[in-house]
Amino acid sequence: MTTIAAKLQHVRARIATACQQAGRNVQDVTLLAVSKTFGPEAVRAAAAAGQRDFGENYIQEGVDKIAALADLRGQLRWHCIGPIQSNKTRLVAEQFDWAHGVDRLKTAERLSAQRPPGLPPLNLCLQVNIDGGPTKSGVAPAEALALALAVAALPGLRLRGLMTIPDPAPDFEAACAVHTSARALFDQLNAAGLGLDTLSMGMSDDLEAAVAAGSTMVRVGSAIFGTRAVKPSRQ
Ligand SMILES: *Cc1c(COP(=O)(O)O)cnc(C)c1O
Repeated sequence: MTTIAAKLQHVRARIATACQQAGRNVQDVTLLAVSKTFGPEAVRAAAAAGQRDFGENYIQEGVDKIAALADLRGQLRWHCIGPIQSNKTRLVAEQFDWAHGVDRLKTAERLSAQRPPGLPPLNLCLQVNIDGGPTKSGVAPAEALALALAVAALPGLRLRGLMTIPDPAPDFEAACAVHTSARALFDQLNAAGLGLDTLSMGMSDDLEAAVAAGSTMVRVGSAIFGTRAVKPSRQ
């Protein structure tokens, strides 16, 4: 077994234990493997071990990897989880299956308009600044409903849910508290009729707390692929 396969198995076991402790069905939590800074061979090894969803932060890096793994295109789902500048929306609309880092209507409108008609709508999660850091990206929780209603009306997109990147919490209870506030916002949007099915939250260090609070998609990088050396200079 490769190292990546063994680590994947360990992460799956962590998710299963967290689901069991929360009384949740393990099928209701999708594992998104965050492959940023790792090469196509690492993705290929994870895919060989049954992993299907992959997340990339840096759009050009992701596009290069998608091209290098073109033979697996029908089996894999590619998620753009980083911020999307205006000049990169076309690449995301044309190449990815999901985008999680959208926090403005303008970006969503460009993605919708640029989604090729031959492809299914781009799956979208709105990024919410759930813990209110002043320098952080993400829509403010109080503005999330209005943005979600506007985005849900765009034809090239399918609004699936919310995504959060809270600051690291000091302990399990604190991590649960911030994830629970995201879950409450998610439930509030669904009570308004939005029909969301995806709450993208939890990473290598806090996936148990995220699952306990109701995450449906955990984004895990270093626990699968190892420690990232440096972020690539290219965006
Ligand atoms: C890098 C990254 C992750 C994965 O983080 P790990 O701590 O390596 O699991 C998840 N989500 C986003 C948005 C990231 O940028």
